[in-house]
Amino acid sequence: NITIGVLALQGAFAEHIDHLTTAADSLQTQPINVIPVRTPPELDSCDALVIPGGESTAISLIAERTGLLAHLMDYVASEKPVWGTCAGLIFLAKQVVNGKPNQQILGGMDIQVHRNAFGRQLHSFEAPLDFSSFIKDVIDFPTVFIRAPVISKILENAESESESESELTTIISNNTYKNKAPLQILHQLENGFIVAVKQGSKLGTSFHPELVSDTRFHKWFILEFVLRE
Ligand code: GLN
Repeated sequence: NITIGVLALQGAFAEHIDHLTTAADSLQTQPINVIPVRTPPELDSCDALVIPGGESTAISLIAERTGLLAHLMDYVASEKPVWGTCAGLIFLAKQVVNGKPNQQILGGMDIQVHRNAFGRQLHSFEAPLDFSSFIKDVIDFPTVFIRAPVISKILENAESESESESELTTIISNNTYKNKAPLQILHQLENGFIVAVKQGSKLGTSFHPELVSDTRFHKWFILEFVLRE
């Protein structure tokens, strides 16, 4: 049996569990368990992990207080599939602009993520986006952005990892893990904002596929990341 865990410290974890369960059932491959993850033994039992949207500073704080943070850093370094959505994307990054000074991040992907990049006036919006270049026939996936981050820099080949031009607080992960896979931009908005990236077994999205009734994104994650291992 395959087990997919959803980090259940804070945020939209119940929705991810529902979507993954529905997607797994409809794929009718091998049996797939979907479990909430709050402890190191639960994390150890997972073949893949999803980190939900919510509030990245809260997720980081709870992970630290419950002693899960170091285990999550090791998990990310294990090459197992990990998908971060929104706050989960922030948590998965190597660098965060506009972070909170005490915020910890896992450093699983060579990306700099800008927190709350769409600004105050645009807290939340929905847009149908074309993902057919990587998910067959998905030309109008309903995406929901809520105080969303964007991928502001690809760090893969960047000389310096600590420089930031902005005056906002930039957080850098303590994880020494180096993702060796090439970073792929999966989707860029018309204004240039990058909202979906893949690096080897890691996937990051700015938006929330768990908050719409469509489960095609979750199916794709199971097929392309989880069952590919
Ligand atoms: N703004 C949130 C954060 O910084 C992310 C928002 C979300 O996950 N919808 O963590």
